[in-house]
Amino acid sequence: MTNMDAYWMPFTANRQFKANPRILVSAKDMHFTSDDNRSILDGTAGLWCVNAGHARETIAEAVKQQVLNLDYAPAFQMGHPAAFELAERLVKLIPGNFDRVFFTNSGSESVETALKIAIAYHRVRGEGTRQRLIGRVRGYHGVGFGGISVGGIGPNRKFFGSLLTGVDHLPHTHNLDHNAFSRKQPEWGAHLADELEGIVALHDASNIAAVIVEPLAGSTGVLIPPKGYLERLRAICDKYGILLIFDEVITGFGRLGASFATEYFGVVPDIVTAAKGITNGTVPMGAVFVKEGIYDAFMNAPENAIELFHGYTYSGHPVACAAALATLDIYEEEKLFERADKMAGYWEDAVHSFKGVRHVIDVRNLGLVAGIELESIAGKPGKRAFDCFTKCYENGLLIRTTGDIIALSPPLIIEKEHIDRIVEILTGVLQGME
Ligand code: PLP
Repeated sequence: MTNMDAYWMPFTANRQFKANPRILVSAKDMHFTSDDNRSILDGTAGLWCVNAGHARETIAEAVKQQVLNLDYAPAFQMGHPAAFELAERLVKLIPGNFDRVFFTNSGSESVETALKIAIAYHRVRGEGTRQRLIGRVRGYHGVGFGGISVGGIGPNRKFFGSLLTGVDHLPHTHNLDHNAFSRKQPEWGAHLADELEGIVALHDASNIAAVIVEPLAGSTGVLIPPKGYLERLRAICDKYGILLIFDEVITGFGRLGASFATEYFGVVPDIVTAAKGITNGTVPMGAVFVKEGIYDAFMNAPENAIELFHGYTYSGHPVACAAALATLDIYEEEKLFERADKMAGYWEDAVHSFKGVRHVIDVRNLGLVAGIELESIAGKPGKRAFDCFTKCYENGLLIRTTGDIIALSPPLIIEKEHIDRIVEILTGVLQGME
C-alpha cells in the first residue's frame, strides 16, 4: 500500500485511520470491495449519493463519450448543449413552480449559491436591507463560510473565526421524550416553527432575507420534521416575505421515495439546493433551483450586463452534465423513486426491529433513511457508535455515524435480502458490544 502520510483526509481522524485503514478498491451495485478482498454491503449509498447503485454502465459510457466529444467548455459567456438539456429536465422533474436552475459542483457550493441569490434577490427588488439569514441548530449545510454560519454544528463552526454576521438559529426539533421510536413524521414539535416569529419580532422582517433548513436533516442524525412543522415555517415565511430555502442535498433524487422532499411533504420552498444523487455520486455536481420570479427579478439590468456575479469554472461541467443526464435516465427507466417508496414499508419494519436491541434508545425512519440512536458511554460521546461502525465494517457492512447516532441510507436499488442482511449484521454487532 502507498504511503498514506501526504493525504490530509477530510472529516477523518487521520492518525487513527492511518494506523488502521479502511480502504475500498472497487464497487458494484450494492457492494464495495475492500483491499483485503471482502465484500462490504453499502448501507449508506456512499455518502448519501449513490442512489442508483454503484458502477452503472450507462453513466460510465456517457462520461466517456462526453470526455471524447467535449471535455470542457468555458462556463462563463459560453454554453454547451448538455447543460441546457439537463437544466430543462431538472426543472421538469422537481414539482412546484421552479423554473430555473444554477449549477455548482457540490452541496456546499449549492448552499453558498442559494444564500447569495437570496440576499441579492431582495436587493435587486429594492429591499436591500433584507440581509439576515436564519438557519437551525443541528443543521448541516456543508462547509463554506455561509453554510457553517447558518449550520448548527458546534465543531464545524468553532475553529473558523467570526463567520457570517447577521445569522440566527431556530431550535432543532429532535426530542426523545416526546418522539422516541416514531415511525415517519413524529406527532410532537410543530410548534417549534413558531420560534421564527420571535426572531422576526427581534430583527423585523425588513431585515431578514431567508430561512434555510434541511426538510429532513440527515448528517446530524436523521431528524425527521414533526407533522405540520414545515407547513408552519412556510406560512410564517409567506407572512413576512422571507424566502424559504430547502437544503435537499440528501433528500433530493428519490431518497424519501419521491423526487424531492418538497414533493414528499407537499411544502414548496422558494429555493432548493441539491447535489449528491444528481450524478449518482460519479462526478461532482450540485444544483440550485429557484421558483418562478426569482430569476426574472435579476433581468432588469441592461441586456449586456451580467445579472449575477457568481459562478464556478466548473458550473455545468460537460462531464458532470453527461453523468447527470444518464443518471436521470436510470431513475426514470427503473422508476427508482417509486421503488424507494414501495420498499420504505419493509425498511421501516426492519429498522424498528432494533427497538429492544442492546444500547438502542431510538429508531426513526422515513423513505429509505433510518436513524438509530445509541446510548452514549458516559464521558465518551460518539465512541459507542464509532466502535459499532468499525465492527460493522469488519463484518461486511458500511454504516455512517454521527455522534452516537447511526444513519442508514442505502442505494434505492436495495432488495429485501440486503435489508435483512443490514439488520442481521448490525444487530449482531450491537448485541456483542459493551
Ligand atoms: N447540505 C446538506 C444537507 C448535506 O447533507 C451536505 C452533505 O452531506 C451538504 C450540504 C454538503 O455537500 P458537499 O459535501 O457536497 O459539499
